[in-house]
Amino acid sequence: MTDGLVFRAFAVSRHRLPYDGAGVTTLVGGYGCPLACRYCINGVCTDPAFRPKIYTIPALFDAVKIDDLYFTATGGGVTFGGGEPLLQAPFIAAFIRYAKAQGVVWKFNLETSLAVPPELFDALVPEGIPAADCPVDEFIVDIKDMDPAIYERYTGRTPEFMRRNLTRLAALTLDRVTVRVPLIPGYNTDEDCDRSEEILRGMGFERIERFAYRTKQ
Ligand code: SF4
Repeated sequence: MTDGLVFRAFAVSRHRLPYDGAGVTTLVGGYGCPLACRYCINGVCTDPAFRPKIYTIPALFDAVKIDDLYFTATGGGVTFGGGEPLLQAPFIAAFIRYAKAQGVVWKFNLETSLAVPPELFDALVPEGIPAADCPVDEFIVDIKDMDPAIYERYTGRTPEFMRRNLTRLAALTLDRVTVRVPLIPGYNTDEDCDRSEEILRGMGFERIERFAYRTKQ
């Protein structure tokens, strides 16, 4: 049962050790993003002229299973990124179910900004499920900045969806989540990042990665 769903991908990138989750991973980059980050390096994700590759669930499974041995031996698997993969959450949920039904022992990771309507987040992570039943093994969340004004200035969107989904995630699981807090030149400062980190720690998150965006300016 593959639900007739398709995934629009701008790239499928193999052997991503060690950037996108534990072990050897294949990054499946989803086309489309609700944000308009000033320093986005994946501009094709929102370029209407770009033609994404369309995968059915079995077609994507066939494309990534070439690395089954690597995934199994290293504790790796498939990481959905983007763009914003949660825009295609029903596909990802169905894909993970399908892959597990084939007997694979891969990990399934998600790189996300969480900036999607609640119904999309809930399509992958239904409200009320126990953490043990969460289909995603590792969430890597890029929150930009927890200050609403900075967030809106940098992304062009208000942070309501991100905040709501982050709160849901905190209630579901903390030990499967890494939150990335970037220093964004011209948009926030080290002190702003300190404040974001404080808010995130107050929500219970412990795996917080601080880093700086590199820009040409
Ligand atoms: S969330 Fe990522 S893909 Fe989307 S605009 Fe921002 S940097 Fe680009």
